[in-house]
Amino acid sequence: VFRNKLEFFAAAKVSSSFPPAELPEIAFAGRSNVGKSSLLNALTRQWGVVRTSDKPGLTQTINFFKLGSKLCMVDLPGYGFAYAKEEVKDAWEELVKEYVSSRVGLKRVCLLIDTKWGMKPRDHELINLMERSQTNYQVVLTKSDLVFPIDVARRAMQIEETLKANTSIVKPVMMISSKSGGGIRSLRTALAQIARF
Ligand code: GDP
Repeated sequence: VFRNKLEFFAAAKVSSSFPPAELPEIAFAGRSNVGKSSLLNALTRQWGVVRTSDKPGLTQTINFFKLGSKLCMVDLPGYGFAYAKEEVKDAWEELVKEYVSSRVGLKRVCLLIDTKWGMKPRDHELINLMERSQTNYQVVLTKSDLVFPIDVARRAMQIEETLKANTSIVKPVMMISSKSGGGIRSLRTALAQIARF
């Protein structure tokens, strides 16, 4: 599935400009700098071609990419810049809330968490929102190469415990490193099951 050509096809600042949902969709969310672009690049090996800038403070958009006619990959704007203006935060919340709670065709949200830093308040907010709207999500720990393996495992367990407090069905946390390539194949396999055949 990930060998299909990746093509950017839409960007939305407001929910009214979301493109029609024609393919199964996987969205990627997380704090700025969590390693989202690197992961998308590692998964598809084509991301560099279509990478758009999402510098803090600039207008943030949700970007939609097609992977052949199999899958739609969605890049949600990164959050958590301390110096982002209040209006930017509100706009982000509005847009992402609307997207995760009502998007038809959304099959899974990959919530990226930095292994070293763990979950932050905004991550909890997003999880609560996804729990409320019964959105199917998966936590992915990033940059696992920067932490000792024992600490990666500890972090995964800690997050699973936190999730268990919220919900009865917890998907196991996945651990990846875009730098070493660790875990990328497993994540690809898990996500490929969502694609249209
Ligand atoms: P984004 O803001 O979430 O898109 O994050 P980027 O993918 O741009 O990555 C932010 C920083 O973390 C960059 O300096 C990357 O080189 C670095 N980074 C991303 N993934 C990894 C990883 O798996 N391991 C290591 N060591 N660094 C990473």
